[in-house]
Amino acid sequence: MALTNKQYDILMREYDNIRTANQHILNERYEEVYRLAPEYSEIEQEIINISMDAARERILGSNTASSLQDASHGNDSPLNKSGDLQSKLSELNNRKTQCLTRIGKPADYLSPVYTCPLCKDSGYIGQERCSCFKKKAIDLVYQDSNLKNITESENFDTFSYEWYADDSPNSANGLTPLQNAKQAVAMAKEFTVKFDEEFSNILLYGTTGAGKTFLTNCIARELLNSTHSVIYLTAVELFDKLSQKDFNKDYGKSDTSDEFDTEYLTECDLLIIDDLGTEMGNSYTASKLFYIINERLLRKKSVIISTNLSLKELQDTYSDRVFSRITSAYKCIRLFGDDIRILKATR
Ligand SMILES: [Zn+2]
Repeated sequence: MALTNKQYDILMREYDNIRTANQHILNERYEEVYRLAPEYSEIEQEIINISMDAARERILGSNTASSLQDASHGNDSPLNKSGDLQSKLSELNNRKTQCLTRIGKPADYLSPVYTCPLCKDSGYIGQERCSCFKKKAIDLVYQDSNLKNITESENFDTFSYEWYADDSPNSANGLTPLQNAKQAVAMAKEFTVKFDEEFSNILLYGTTGAGKTFLTNCIARELLNSTHSVIYLTAVELFDKLSQKDFNKDYGKSDTSDEFDTEYLTECDLLIIDDLGTEMGNSYTASKLFYIINERLLRKKSVIISTNLSLKELQDTYSDRVFSRITSAYKCIRLFGDDIRILKATR
């Protein structure tokens, strides 16, 4: 994923801040332990002393080591001394743990604190960018996206069934709107639970106001919480950004944070295209949609598409190749019921 230098610097500064904050937490923990168990610092000092003694002895002793080994096989041989040192150190370390236990702290209370243990808050694992880095990069590029704000309040816990009637079963699947909504939510949950093991995609279709965007946000929230990178774009935004990049030759010259990189579209863990069919459709949008859908299928990266179009309209609006990719690789979830926005407004 390409980032501008400015974006890269912002991310690296963020890691600096994380490490500083975590160091601060650790310092405070040390102060707390020294206060509650003053002997802790004495034990630490003792460890330093005997380690330094041992080091000094190793340096001085190395000159006479051969004569010592020849002359003596008693308790003072270097081998025994290092054994003594090890047992002394492990005894002191045990005492440190006991100190922590006594004041009600876990044994690793004074271990380094990492927000991301995978990369130890460096952003890199070897030469590779850590998953936390990729997520931060996407968050940075999409900080203006309203996804984060929406999904704070829209998640599986707040999904309400009260808007779905439990009568007039649908002629196609025999389910009432309520039964159908429950099934849709169960499928959406399964999608998030199995996200890392099982590659799958969702086409969420159905009438206006039946809760498609809400359900999409539930999934997004769940995956963002488990540190996946999620890009949410309405179809209008998606094709706007793509055409800006394709047709504006000045594009990309300025070093601004809203610069759009199409690589994100193919690389993020989940791409959500909301409201497909509301854009100005033409051969350009159809071919771009195919490119994104196909590219992500090849890379086994999931997509959720939500649309008010029926499957038939979808086929008529986009090319047959788009339609065949969707029907073969997407779980089709249909939501129906009264328009929740109207129900809410009239209650
Ligand atoms: Zn990391």
